[in-house]
Amino acid sequence: MTQALPAWLCAPLDALRAQRDVGRLHHALLIHGPRGVGKALLAEHLIRGLFCKTPDAQGHACGECAPCKLYLAGNHPDARLVEPEIEHRQFAPYLHAIAQDDPDRKADTPRKQRLISIGQIRQLNEFLVTKSQFGGWRIGVIAPAEAMNVNAANSLLKTLEEPGGSTLLMLLSERPSALPATVRSRCRSLSIPAPAHAEAGAWLRSLHPQGDTEQALALSGGAPLAAAAMLDDGRLELHGQALSELEQLLRGRVEPISLAEQWSKVGAPIYIGFLQSWLVDMIRMHSGAGVPSAALARRLQALAQGLDLRELYRRLDAVSEARRLLDRSISLQALLEDLLLGWMPTPRRR
Ligand SMILES: [Zn+2]
Repeated sequence: MTQALPAWLCAPLDALRAQRDVGRLHHALLIHGPRGVGKALLAEHLIRGLFCKTPDAQGHACGECAPCKLYLAGNHPDARLVEPEIEHRQFAPYLHAIAQDDPDRKADTPRKQRLISIGQIRQLNEFLVTKSQFGGWRIGVIAPAEAMNVNAANSLLKTLEEPGGSTLLMLLSERPSALPATVRSRCRSLSIPAPAHAEAGAWLRSLHPQGDTEQALALSGGAPLAAAAMLDDGRLELHGQALSELEQLLRGRVEPISLAEQWSKVGAPIYIGFLQSWLVDMIRMHSGAGVPSAALARRLQALAQGLDLRELYRRLDAVSEARRLLDRSISLQALLEDLLLGWMPTPRRR
């Protein structure tokens, strides 16, 4: 099932549905806002409402009719997602992963390219002008839109200028300023600002009454959907364990090679993400900035003892490089081993 819509997305969705009801829904929407705010979730709810044969009075999809079932199964023929990693898959499950804003889950899928190519956009253009199989909307989503290269963006212009009937194009973006002005000016802009901390926290608690929602929010940089994903898939718990394991490593109670093996079995991208977030927090603390969780700050401070800013940046560079190499087919265990050896006291380093 699609996740319930958080309160801060209800007003924008209602506004879009009201525009649809009077036939004034713009054919190209640029939905922009910070990471993890729910841009893809908003798009998904709008799409489902448009496809559904028997929506309720508020325009919510029924979840029972044929188009609803097809969409939920990821098989609706009138919807396409264009994203850098995977080309033109039927998209409900993929959009759902984006809706959760879960970089680790996405990192598990093979990455062929980082950019959205002109070929992908041409295919989307062709898709959008063919007849809808259900006689209704034909919908394309480009996420993140700023991943389009210049040629790809240019090839989208004609569709933006002369859309077919009942065509909807949604561009999702964290950095709309990175899009060419020619694209931006042809879309209706819809900004989704981050909710207040209290509102995000209340939403998370409604989903996870028992979970440590504050810690999840802190670790997700305040991005509510990313925090929800951490609580959903047990990554928050894993995070606490990983920190203990790194502490054990520095005390010499566990070998880097065995820890790397263990971590790579669970998922190297997850742990590389943890290392990155810890280093960013250590650098913030070093620079006098606060870290949202006091308990985490104390542990990170102990781990960073004796490390100067230059060394912290060196380690952050190593982690960023490892993150980049995740896309290539090299041994993830070796990647983690190298990183963990870099955390060992000096005499033991390679
Ligand atoms: Zn339905």
